[in-house]
Amino acid sequence: MRKNANTVLKLVISGFILCVVLFFVYSKILSAEEYSSEKMGKVALQSVFNIKNKGKPEEWARDIPVLMYHHLLKDDENPYKDNGAVLSVETFREHMSCLYENGYYTIGLNELEKFVRGEINLPKRSVLITFDDGYKSNYEYAYPILKEYGFKAAIFLISSWNTDEVASFDANDLQYLSWHEIESSRDVFEYASHTHDLHRLDENGQGYLVTRPPDEIKQDLEMSMKILDTAYLAYPYGYYNKKTLKILRKLGYRMAFTVRPGRVKPGNSLLELNRYSIFPGISQVDFERIIGL
Ligand SMILES: [Zn+2]
Repeated sequence: MRKNANTVLKLVISGFILCVVLFFVYSKILSAEEYSSEKMGKVALQSVFNIKNKGKPEEWARDIPVLMYHHLLKDDENPYKDNGAVLSVETFREHMSCLYENGYYTIGLNELEKFVRGEINLPKRSVLITFDDGYKSNYEYAYPILKEYGFKAAIFLISSWNTDEVASFDANDLQYLSWHEIESSRDVFEYASHTHDLHRLDENGQGYLVTRPPDEIKQDLEMSMKILDTAYLAYPYGYYNKKTLKILRKLGYRMAFTVRPGRVKPGNSLLELNRYSIFPGISQVDFERIIGL
């Protein structure tokens, strides 16, 4: 009788220990899947995002940097080297490698909109990469690098400047993306507006989005919206005023970017979002500060 009781007790204790061990292992697996984003890099970040609001609050982004790039050329082919107007492909690769090594998640425009509206949480190390003007060099150089790292980015096009014919790449010429290149790079890039044909400054150095008659601005932005099928805009040279905002609201634009440096937070004015210009000659320390490392 006593021997039986001992056996039962041993069974109960072993069962209890087994349960504790299983629970411990199971919760480890769960936390590895959901939370170890920094250790596991991009794949884990995707899974953190996919589980939406289940992550730990301290692993959500409070604010997100939006990076603004333009034209890229290799160091040895840059005819504008003296005035430093163009970022080198080598520097761009270093930036992307830095984002990758540190487990950053590159978000899309739609995700940023939802984040600002407070509708979704995003991983702490999220970043939005953007390019202005739509240079052919974005396709030639940025596209393969972004693809290699599994990143995505947004390009703001001046839709009347894109071409039907595909020219071969020429570093000495300022070329813009062809429609064919735009269509064949949608696995990496999404496209939004930088106006249809108002990327210009008047004789006083003021942007057309503040100096042209409202009807002309409205017509231009409506055209670009229709051609590109987008509700997102980047202001050329950062120029806009109350009149521009009114037109954008009327047309149904939902998000627009300035060139004011600073991070983007939930609750920000969606038509006046900050962006960091990534200038040629930017130091690695400054880049790391911008992305919040
Ligand atoms: Zn521009």
